[in-house]
Amino acid sequence: MNDTICAISTTLGVGAISIIRVSGKDAIEKVNNITNIDLTKKQSHTINYAYIKNNNEIIDEVLISVMKAPKTFTTEDTIEINCHGGIATTEKVLELLLNQEIRLAEPGEFTKRAFLNGRIDLTQSQSVQDLINTKSDKARALAINNLKGTTSNKIRSLRERLVKIITNIEVNIDYPEYQDIEEMTIEKIKNEIDNIESELESIIKNSENSKIITNGINVAIIGKPNVGKSSILNKLIEEEKAIVTNIPGTTRDVIEASFNLNGITLNLIDTAGIRETDDIVEKIGVEKSKKALDKADLVLLILNNNEKLTEEDKKLLEISKDKQRIIVVNKTDLEKKLDLNEENIVYTNTVEENGIESLLNKISEMYKLEQLETNDYYYVSNIQQLNKIKQTRRNIKDIKRGLEESIPIDMLEIDLREIWQTLGEVIGETYTEELLDNLFKNFCVGK
Ligand code: GDP
Repeated sequence: MNDTICAISTTLGVGAISIIRVSGKDAIEKVNNITNIDLTKKQSHTINYAYIKNNNEIIDEVLISVMKAPKTFTTEDTIEINCHGGIATTEKVLELLLNQEIRLAEPGEFTKRAFLNGRIDLTQSQSVQDLINTKSDKARALAINNLKGTTSNKIRSLRERLVKIITNIEVNIDYPEYQDIEEMTIEKIKNEIDNIESELESIIKNSENSKIITNGINVAIIGKPNVGKSSILNKLIEEEKAIVTNIPGTTRDVIEASFNLNGITLNLIDTAGIRETDDIVEKIGVEKSKKALDKADLVLLILNNNEKLTEEDKKLLEISKDKQRIIVVNKTDLEKKLDLNEENIVYTNTVEENGIESLLNKISEMYKLEQLETNDYYYVSNIQQLNKIKQTRRNIKDIKRGLEESIPIDMLEIDLREIWQTLGEVIGETYTEELLDNLFKNFCVGK
């Protein structure tokens, strides 16, 4: 953590500008060794015109931002060099920096430093990553909101409420003679626990929705050959102006196309096969569908209206029954022979172009896409963080069970402390001193 690190922060490729970032206590001094100006004399937060030099050879004409600790992203001295874009120039400048014994940063190391130096917490660190990866406007709105620390603050306030309960219990046990301290009755604890539980539930629900907002919905179109999978896929693509990533030679699992529906990205997993294939394996419905199902959030199972249910159809109905699923009965322009008793059916025919709109509406309805709001949204996008919050939900359930079974109140303290601890891990803040400090802070026990 004490060494100085550097990395190219923009995409390496041909462009007008590339930015190289350097952070650490020797950043200014070391970059100074390869410039024609004296960076050590520059004020903080200034942009300076300079040459990058390798001995006497000018490598590039650049703009150098000097940002001194602590008001920087990493809280360390930071230099950003705006080089002329282009692989050779940028790499040469980077090489000169490495020669100054500046270490190449590990992935995410600038953000990691920002966290370790207390500039941002864990939830915010994750938002930095989310913001970089965002694909839709809604996802961007979510990430930037979290970067401001809204979820962290919510979790912090939940922890404060837990500390209050714990403190009350402790004080009542250790100082029973203290009359001026409100006794935490079982009733009060129950109420507060219910409130905390519902807030945790909403973070979990929002986190699951945020996955949809951030990553989109993976949709697999399955069905036996010739039911019209490709035709439906193509209609969806036409209708929604999808970005088709039809790269020849890509493996069978790739996402073939994605499009936006009410601001949410729908990723179509390659099962229908936009590209023509003679590959017998690819044509085999059931086997291929099984694979696609694993990756899919939503399954569109296509059946032929003009045909009785076949064994293969039945198998597909069976393997997809536990998935979020829409059954698309296609070829409604032809005589109805299919007899089906299932839920979530949409009727289409791609010849007269009927039903595609209904299909999109159905998806939208299923995920309540129009109502997915991004205001006041408390969520975590990282799976480990989400698992931790789910763990606290289990602790809450234990506490509630304990309360019903009239377990002594001080026994519940262990679970309460565990929830406090786990929520602290979510935002990266758990230190036992903090608990101790907080414990009696709001009560004048020592007086
Ligand atoms: P896939 O093998 O499931 O991908 O099916 P295709 O999309 O390749 O379609 C198989 C055949 O059915 C093609 O000849 C299509 O033109 C035809 N087809 C697709 N949709 C319809 C439809 O709604 N009505 C009729 N009559 N034919 C269709």
